[in-house]
Formats: sequence, C-alpha cells, structure tokens
Amino acid sequence: MAKRVTGPEIEKLIQLLAKVPGLGPRSARRAALHLIKKRDQLMGPLSGAMQDAYDKVKICTTCGNVDTSDPCTICTDPTRDQGLVIVVEDVGDLWALERAAALNAAYHVLGGTLSPLDGIGPDDLTIDKLIERVAAGDVSEIVLAVNATVEGQTTAHYIADRIADLDKGVTVSGLAHGVPVGGELDYLDDGTLTAAMKARRPIGG
Ligand code: ZN
Repeated sequence: MAKRVTGPEIEKLIQLLAKVPGLGPRSARRAALHLIKKRDQLMGPLSGAMQDAYDKVKICTTCGNVDTSDPCTICTDPTRDQGLVIVVEDVGDLWALERAAALNAAYHVLGGTLSPLDGIGPDDLTIDKLIERVAAGDVSEIVLAVNATVEGQTTAHYIADRIADLDKGVTVSGLAHGVPVGGELDYLDDGTLTAAMKARRPIGG
C-alpha cells in the first residue's frame, strides 16, 4: 500500500471528486489541490452551493426534470408551448436541447431507455406518466428525441404505439437525419441538434 500523503479529510475529498464524471483519480487530486489553494474564493462558495443544491433539488412530478421547484420552471413557463412535449432519456439531453434553443416546448424525461437485457422495463421509466399527460388532453405533439441507439429506438416505438392506442390525434415525431447512430444528444453541436429538431418526421404508431 502507498504511504499516506494527506490526512483522511483531504483523502476523502479526493476519493469523492474522483467519482465525478470526467475526473479520474489524477484530475481529482489536481482539483482537490486547487480547491485547497483557493479555500476562500472557491472551496467555501462551492461547498455552500453544493449544500444548497443538495437541500433544494427536486424532481418535477410532471415531467421528471431536475429543479428546485415542483412543478419545475419549464412546466410552469407560460411562454412555452406546453402542448408540444419533447421526450428525452435524461436531463442532460434536456439541457443540450435547451442550449441549442431548438424548440420552445415542454419536456418529458424518461429516466433511461427500455432495455430487456438489463431488466429495464416500462415500469422503470416515466412512460406511464407521459401517457397520463397525453390522456389528459393537454398535449398536441410529441417529439421523441431519444438517442439513435437500439434501446432508444425500441423505446421510441413502444411510446409511439402506446400514444396511438389512446387515439387522441396527437402527432408523434422523431428526430430527423443528422443524429448519428449510437450518438448521444449531449455530444452533438447546437446546429445539428436544431436541424434534427426542425426536420422531425412522424413516427407510425
Ligand atoms: Zn416539469
């Protein structure tokens, strides 16, 4: 075992930072050292911001978005077309689409994709909640902005079928060309995202 270099508090900070996506053990050490050097300017405010976010974070019971209010800022925004709902796998995809300002719409966050091999079925996602929103008659168009993976497409067709069964006359469309197969929305540039959203095309039920 390697000799201890720091006390347990700093060691723990490094270990936790190393679990943040994009940071490995090496970057975590650099980040920890930077925080320690900027104790007052950065470490203090960051620790306060973390505690604040930890205390106040909520999952929107309507759309599954992450926010500090429920219903979330997007669901309560009167300037958005609340009848146009973009269905995404993850909050990261929602943020990517918002960054691209693709459509002035509402969202529904599924929390993943159907994946029978991993034991993820419809009950593990927020699909029923989406169907409830459509059944309530508040939705006129659904855009299935799921990733172009096999699981994403399986999920899109499952949802399209469920919505077609409701017979509410809701338009269901998917992202157009431009989204690479297996591509994750978050990695696409804004122009590609916006183009894929503008050129969305209907999905048969
Ligand atoms: Zn919401």
